[in-house]
Amino acid sequence: MVAMSQAWIVIDGEGQVGPALDVLGTNGSDVSAIVVGPEDLAVNVGRSVGHVNWIDSGEAPTEAGADAIAEAVAAAAPTAVVGSVSPGGRTLLGAIAARLDAPVVSDTLAISQDGNGTRVDKSDLVGRVIVTLDVPTPVCVLPTQTDAAPVELANPAMPTRIEAAPQAMNRVAVEPAPGAGSVLPNAARIVSVGRGLGSADGMGIVTQLASALQAEVACSMPVIDVGWVPADRYVGLSGQHVSPELYLALGISGAPQHLAGIRNAKVVVAINTDIKAGIFKRADYGILADLHQVVPELIRAVAGGR
Ligand SMILES: Cc1cc2nc3c(=O)[nH]c(=O)nc-3n(C[C@H](O)[C@H](O)[C@H](O)COP(=O)(O)OP(=O)(O)OC[C@H]3O[C@@H](n4cnc5c(N)ncnc54)[C@H](O)[C@@H]3O)c2cc1C
Repeated sequence: MVAMSQAWIVIDGEGQVGPALDVLGTNGSDVSAIVVGPEDLAVNVGRSVGHVNWIDSGEAPTEAGADAIAEAVAAAAPTAVVGSVSPGGRTLLGAIAARLDAPVVSDTLAISQDGNGTRVDKSDLVGRVIVTLDVPTPVCVLPTQTDAAPVELANPAMPTRIEAAPQAMNRVAVEPAPGAGSVLPNAARIVSVGRGLGSADGMGIVTQLASALQAEVACSMPVIDVGWVPADRYVGLSGQHVSPELYLALGISGAPQHLAGIRNAKVVVAINTDIKAGIFKRADYGILADLHQVVPELIRAVAGGR
């Protein structure tokens, strides 16, 4: 555990205090927080953290507070700074790290102090290994994303406002991004297709099976490059994260980057011709066969079962 009086957490949205305190292994009473955002957020943070500093970013985006935050945190010379993985949070931590001349470590699970500095445990290879680092302090870390909830302290801290002019930055437009509003994150069933389909001609049986199962169609990343499925439907680390009851993977090898998107799928069924395909390690049920033979059988079976 880091000496908590020397640990700071940086908050720019709800739900960030729990993961930050989790990394520090503390109930928060001895930690200092710096909050960028509305006063309500600062007050909420004060329920679980001993000391709360607050910068009101007003109408400006979070990033406009980066300079003021970096200055305030650096003045306290902390041993460790835990940020948040929100887009604004990453920017704030970057500014603090630059001011402290400190390294940044992502996907952090826990930090502790030893004689030589700070020991950092971080997750790597999509959660398959834990890497332990010794870092000369100070160090800035980004936590892994968790649902950890903070404990409410007996005596809530009143936020101390830091008067700071935001850096010049005006929000001139907010518009939906292409692909926003994808149906995949909420889909109960997904039929997902990979390069093993061979060509766009196979999409007919894929959409028939999806329709028979009342499922959404998804794919691996290379499939959008060849245009068989629209770009907002690829699943994985850099794509959609899904949590269906059923994920049916057709001709998908199961690369770690793809599996990262189906961590929360309940039942995974894989059809693949290669017994060594990684998808079989994640699958609850595996069919070692040519998808072009199995999928028509499945369509008939589902139709017959109605
Ligand atoms: C930084 C980075 C980020 C990435 N992000 C993602 C991501 O978010 N999502 C993602 O999907 N990928 C991502 N990738 C790509 C990833 O590494 C893999 O290359 C990709 O997932 C492989 O796609 P695939 O399984 O469809 O194709 P392949 O790896 O080519 O696998 C095709 C599979 O089909 C099987 N097959 C062949 N013919 C048949 C048949 N007739 N019947 C049944 N099975 C058959 C083969 O045995 C094979 O296992 C990323 C890569 C990088 C470097």
